[in-house]
Amino acid sequence: VIEAGTPEHSVTTTCAYCGVGCSFDAEMKGEEVVRMTPTKNGGANHGHSCVKGRFAWGYATHKDRITTPMIRKSIKDPWQQVGWDEAISYAASELTRIQKQYGSDAIGGITSSRCTNEEVYVTQKLIRAVFGVNNVDTCARVCHSPTGYGLKQTLGESAGTQTFDSVMHSDVIFIIGANPTDGHPVFASQMKRRLREGAKLIIADPREIDLVANSPHIRADYHLKLRPGTNVALVSALAHVIVTEGLVQEAFVKERCEWDSFVEWRDFVAKPENSPEALAAELGVDAETMRAAARMYATGGDAAIYYGLGVTEHSQGSTTVMGIANLAMATANIGREGVGVNPLRGQNNVQGSCDMGSMPHEFPGYRHVADDATRALFESAWGRSLSKEPGLRIPNMLDEASEGNFKGLYCVGEDIVQSDPNTQHVTHALENMECVIVQDLFLNETAMFAHVFFPGASFLEKNGTFTNAERRISPVRRVMHPKNGYEDWEVTTKLSEALGYPMQYNHASEIMDEIAALTPTFRGVSFKKLDEMGSVQWPCDDEHPDGTPIMHIDEFVRGKGKFFVTRYVPSTEKVNAKFPLILTTGRILSQYNVGAQTRRTHNTAWHPEDILEIHPHDAEERGIKEGDWVGIVSRAGETVLRAKITERVQVGVVYTTFHHPESGANVITTDNSDWATNCPEFKVTAVQVSRVSQL
Ligand code: SF4
Repeated sequence: VIEAGTPEHSVTTTCAYCGVGCSFDAEMKGEEVVRMTPTKNGGANHGHSCVKGRFAWGYATHKDRITTPMIRKSIKDPWQQVGWDEAISYAASELTRIQKQYGSDAIGGITSSRCTNEEVYVTQKLIRAVFGVNNVDTCARVCHSPTGYGLKQTLGESAGTQTFDSVMHSDVIFIIGANPTDGHPVFASQMKRRLREGAKLIIADPREIDLVANSPHIRADYHLKLRPGTNVALVSALAHVIVTEGLVQEAFVKERCEWDSFVEWRDFVAKPENSPEALAAELGVDAETMRAAARMYATGGDAAIYYGLGVTEHSQGSTTVMGIANLAMATANIGREGVGVNPLRGQNNVQGSCDMGSMPHEFPGYRHVADDATRALFESAWGRSLSKEPGLRIPNMLDEASEGNFKGLYCVGEDIVQSDPNTQHVTHALENMECVIVQDLFLNETAMFAHVFFPGASFLEKNGTFTNAERRISPVRRVMHPKNGYEDWEVTTKLSEALGYPMQYNHASEIMDEIAALTPTFRGVSFKKLDEMGSVQWPCDDEHPDGTPIMHIDEFVRGKGKFFVTRYVPSTEKVNAKFPLILTTGRILSQYNVGAQTRRTHNTAWHPEDILEIHPHDAEERGIKEGDWVGIVSRAGETVLRAKITERVQVGVVYTTFHHPESGANVITTDNSDWATNCPEFKVTAVQVSRVSQL
């Protein structure tokens, strides 16, 4: 615990970790943080916090921080420290050379959830306005891009439907593919309060997460311990019960949804092959348990679905998201408190990075680049001709780079080498590029392949906003001077100016003013309003000046809700004699994502390595004992981890986290991805596991 001195003043800001988006008072003595105290009236946390936000901010002043820009001609050369002017000028000249030599399609940008909304906005603006392409993507590509797609298709908006507080009105809580205790701890505590009050709990997860048997008072009524990769089959089985047992709320469906789409879906799920009995063997879940869970969801009162990456990171991630929306519409569990479809977005600003147009097919506010009116609006505001062709997604950029067609990358706050699948493919692509610019706090794994390093500013050193999983826009406030001299948006605008496209902002608030002017769902957002209200949930406009806690109340954003037939297609990642186990991945409470921040705090002592969970039956078969080193081999690669023997995982399934670069979890994950969005299938990798000698 880092607490020293007596604070002299405090500044309210927002946690830079998970998608709960807790407010904190940074209590300061001069430029030193004395402690972080959760803000009593914080919109998302109401005075609560978890171990990360409360104690794990030491990375911001860690000795590993790089504070001087660096350049090098080749990744084999040593880094050369230079001033900002030289670094910016070198990066601009290289990108200009690449544009002339290979064309604009050879250049793109990647943003991250670690960026503020304002930083994401100026980065996508730079790529679009300077280079005339839409090659800009964000880390949501590898986590919640199926949420963006699936909810837009069914409900009309790429975001969760509820406020977190809504759970206090739920009679039934249905968690699919999420582990809130570890991933969203403060919201998990709120959920537990509601469960202690008597709400029912259904969990669908291949692994026994904490909430399955948290305490004598908090236990899942039903744990659907399905095989990894079978979510769509589960959703169909539940829908089959709801349809064939007469549990559909037809009056709601008739009034609020496209009836024809409902009929097509109803007739599909009613088929015998979608019954729990027909799918039980594929899922590994008892049919009667599925029937009971479906009845509880449909008839147990106000029922809310919460889901996470266990839904999205699959080859049918988007299909499952649409299937979940189907369930909510069919049972009228949408459009009021206590119900809804709630993606638990993992990172602090993953919602915002998508909202701000860091998508190759969408401008800010989820408007397609091919829409002439939207393009004309941005062309007029930005003074440049813009492309109507969707650009490259991250995996497309990597594929094109491997083919020699993509040469220049501006990567802000994202570590694609550690966080994207099939590390070998990522590093090969980066090696093929001629100018990789990394903007980050630390020399991360991606920076090993960079030619320019722009030192970034931590969340304590900049102004801006983050948007959490409930669409809540919260202020990030600067409490100390940037150690590198600049806030991140200033670096991006300096690069843009060097590329011949100056952007005129004096403060992050002016970027938000431009966002508000060009984005209907942000029309009423300003730093002044955030100062007055603390936070606000979009849509925030003339009609909803104080924001929108619950969406789709009287009608869906798309007008009528639309059902989609969700046909189960088994993953192509199959087990066989050579790769007999399925590896699935997740996270733990004290670490965060690729660990760049939490590994540089005192938390490291609690979970210093990623481990492999394996069932006692599978361990015994292989002669593996607790703590043994085990080799894990997949079709993509191999790595070594220490074994933990536990019945939390089922027979035939192993599990690990991906917080430590040396553990190489993504060396073994494959290129398989969601059919609609290319979100990687992190949750299903066929592997062999065997005991190896001590490293
Ligand atoms: Fe930060 Fe999430 Fe913990 Fe809140 S729950 S303190 S946002 S990591």
